Amino acid sequence: QPSPDRDGVAAPPAWEPGYDIPARVGDPVAAVATPALIVDLDAFERNLDRMRRRAAELGVALRAHAKMHKSADVAQAQIARGGAVGICCQKVSEAEALMRAGLADVLVSNQVVGEARVARLVRLTERGAVAVCADHPDQVAAFSRAVTARRAETGSDRLTLDVLVEMDCGSGRCGTGSIAGSVALASAIDASPGLRFAGLQSYYGRAQHIVDPAERRAALATSLALTAATRDAIRAAGLPCDRITGAGTGSFEIEGASGVYTEIQAGSYAFMDADYARVRETTPDAFEHALFVLATVISVPGRGRAVCDAGLKAVAADSGLPLVHGLSGIAATGLSDEHCTLADPEAQLTLGAQVHLIPGHCDPTCNLHDWYVGVRHGRVECLWPVTARGKVF
Ligand code: PLP
Ligand code: MN
Repeated sequence: QPSPDRDGVAAPPAWEPGYDIPARVGDPVAAVATPALIVDLDAFERNLDRMRRRAAELGVALRAHAKMHKSADVAQAQIARGGAVGICCQKVSEAEALMRAGLADVLVSNQVVGEARVARLVRLTERGAVAVCADHPDQVAAFSRAVTARRAETGSDRLTLDVLVEMDCGSGRCGTGSIAGSVALASAIDASPGLRFAGLQSYYGRAQHIVDPAERRAALATSLALTAATRDAIRAAGLPCDRITGAGTGSFEIEGASGVYTEIQAGSYAFMDADYARVRETTPDAFEHALFVLATVISVPGRGRAVCDAGLKAVAADSGLPLVHGLSGIAATGLSDEHCTLADPEAQLTLGAQVHLIPGHCDPTCNLHDWYVGVRHGRVECLWPVTARGKVF
């Protein structure tokens, strides 16, 4: 059962299934209040085992991206069973929530701007190992000022923030746009009081979703060359550049085998989604769908249609409609706020039937829910809070 108190606040007298929680441990899946996030624990564990094995075979560290699931329990499993050295977070508040829940080694794989936010980030170094990215000298100056201020407040001169240079290797999102810019930034970090230059982040998000493995490999070839050249230029300037981090589920096989990357940041591999199911793997065995939105059929109005209770507030649609798992001939045709319409030409679905939807995109789907319902052999084995749900600051 979920922990009866949160942050030391007295718990309500009982957690009510269908109100506070989607189900109780031990319930059959049929009793789960929907829409609910279901984790197929066997498939999840096989995904963790597979990634642990692949990262070891490739000779890279796995730093699992926790923005995908925002759950301390999932992150702990990625470390304990899945061999991850720590986690990535995308936001300071997300890192804060997961560190409060016991995670101790976090890379904020993103830009962090704003005095108050930077101050919160710096305070996290007192809870564990924390690193962050930068792509602008003003940001490096802001990090240094914040560490210096915190040193003065606490009287501790040892407080240090690890900062990586984020380079743009093709995504056209954040990151320095030239090798010279990356070298200058690395030197600025190295010269700044309170900061330690900690390596290079090079993340090519768009390449991950290229369906064909040969095209994906071609897209990454330029990025790999630029990343290696940037690393070498930083080294030639006299700075150690031993940590090269980036990559995700769709591309880690390529970056991992490149000899350039030392750390991969895959997140979605643990759950998978419909979008990644379309991205063909470069190796024959594949990650499995372990995440579902369980929904209930609430209307069978005829004319080949059924309607279930998981709409846009339960399943994200940015990467397309969900797939209907395990029922052939039935497909999602539309999503509105609280409804998903299904084409059911043979009228297989009856009122109250449950359907397992595979979300188009796992990350934004998970952030819509308070709980994961862990299921094994048709029964609820655990409830995990979506620890950093809504922590988007
Ligand atoms: N690293 C960074 C910086 C990201 O933004 C993301 C996801 O967008 C990832 C890693 C993980 O990618 P995935 O969940 O596709 O494995
Ligand atoms: Mn994603």
